[in-house]
Amino acid sequence: MSPTDVLKVEGLRKSFGDNEVLRSIDLSVASGGVVALVGPSGSGKTTVLRSLNGLEIPDAGRVTFEGGPAVDFGSNVPKRQLMALRDRSAMVFQHYNLFPHMTVLENVIEGPVQVQRRPRAEAVRDAEDLLRRVGLAEKKDQYPHELSGGQQQRVGIVRALALKPTLLLFDEPTSALDPELVGEVLSVIKELADEGWTMVLVTHELAFAREVATEVVFMDGGVVVEHGPPEKVLRNPSEERTRRFVHRLL
Ligand code: ADP
Repeated sequence: MSPTDVLKVEGLRKSFGDNEVLRSIDLSVASGGVVALVGPSGSGKTTVLRSLNGLEIPDAGRVTFEGGPAVDFGSNVPKRQLMALRDRSAMVFQHYNLFPHMTVLENVIEGPVQVQRRPRAEAVRDAEDLLRRVGLAEKKDQYPHELSGGQQQRVGIVRALALKPTLLLFDEPTSALDPELVGEVLSVIKELADEGWTMVLVTHELAFAREVATEVVFMDGGVVVEHGPPEKVLRNPSEERTRRFVHRLL
């Protein structure tokens, strides 16, 4: 692991039945880095993201967060290690995944209070600060169904931030939104990137990836086909598969 890496992934493999979805993925994420995972549908991007957060258990490979133990998949991973891994990152989901029966504020403090056992008053204070930052302070007592998709996703982002993770994971955060609501969510993500948050982002928004990513990883068929700075991978790719994909979308 280089001294600036927050996360290192080595040899990640995952099959669902006969379907080999990840065929040895290597990845590293530098502190303050924004890694955009791009590639055709079904190439394994979401499975990589979910594996980093322990939502998916890979068949083999190793995930190391800076300052934490290396988690070796393939053998039986001790529950304690899995919990430690989950603690390091927080996920923003494509479909927001807010709890429908809880208010905005309750959604945001649920993880900090119930999982991290932080004092409720402190969690509420932090949640209110974060909601203010994304322009949703006055929505804190409303329920998810009373908000627009863009507002719900901003709550999804606040809920991830409230966990104070080392790494933010975004799984196609704007692909469920009406086009006119995409911008408000992308601008929050851009602000977080500018503030120095470390993140991995699965996205089809290549123009956005070009703007915010420090590194673009192009995946196809469960392998990393090529990776590098956005101006290289998205403007002047080395591989034919990348070129075809990029030309279709940019
Ligand atoms: P991407 O994010 O690039 O679209 P995914 O990681 O979502 O790709 O999916 C990769 C492949 O794994 C797809 O063929 C998908 O159908 C399959 N897959 C993903 N999750 C599951 C699951 N829980 N059970 C079975 N197959 C899955």
